[in-house]
Amino acid sequence: MTSLTLPIKLDLDPIIALKQLCEEYPEQVVFTTSLGLEDQALTDLIARNNIPVRLVTLDTGRLFPETYSLLDRTKSKYAIEVKSVFPDTLSLEEFVNEQGMNSIYSSINCRKTCCKIRKIDPLFRALNEAKVWVTGLRADQSENRSSIPRVERDAMTGLIKFNPLLDWNDHQLQSYINSHSVPTNTLHRKGYPSIGCEPCTRAIQPDEHPRAGRWWWENSSQECGLHKG
Ligand code: SF4
Repeated sequence: MTSLTLPIKLDLDPIIALKQLCEEYPEQVVFTTSLGLEDQALTDLIARNNIPVRLVTLDTGRLFPETYSLLDRTKSKYAIEVKSVFPDTLSLEEFVNEQGMNSIYSSINCRKTCCKIRKIDPLFRALNEAKVWVTGLRADQSENRSSIPRVERDAMTGLIKFNPLLDWNDHQLQSYINSHSVPTNTLHRKGYPSIGCEPCTRAIQPDEHPRAGRWWWENSSQECGLHKG
């Protein structure tokens, strides 16, 4: 992570802080939502308070049908635009034709190449005109995320990265979702606390870590590379 001095002192309240950033960087504040619980709460908070943050989602082409349904429900409930950004066709064709669709299980390299083509390269396009990248990361989601700062200069993109819900705990998150009737993925009720691409996400047992169902066959950091932690 890289330290950062902002021209403004960001308020601790996520709503005020997001408004401050939108005033300082008009049209250049972008929230990338994966439609997970945190991101849905943040979408609600942005929409409910009419904060002019642009919303983008990375459609890898391998999401669960339930996730596409949630995207439709979210756009309809809040009457907002959530722009889907897709992988580059030629890169994806080359990868699948050379390595095979399921090569992601054969090596970490293949899996990371898939994540690069389907997520990281599109992320750069999604953030092309942005100055501020907003995420729904929370410190207690995983060990990798426990020490990330609330605001930083992101090493990968060079942008200001703002994590407004960083300090929220599970209870705060769930109570926000319940009290605001935030739409959520129906898979959460079937043992999927963390949901990514369909081939790379499984349900977990009650005693497993919430991110244990992501890339479960790997002995890796259970991250796709979007967030270095
Ligand atoms: Fe590919 Fe799996 Fe990464 Fe999705 S999570 S981009 S399917 S490797």
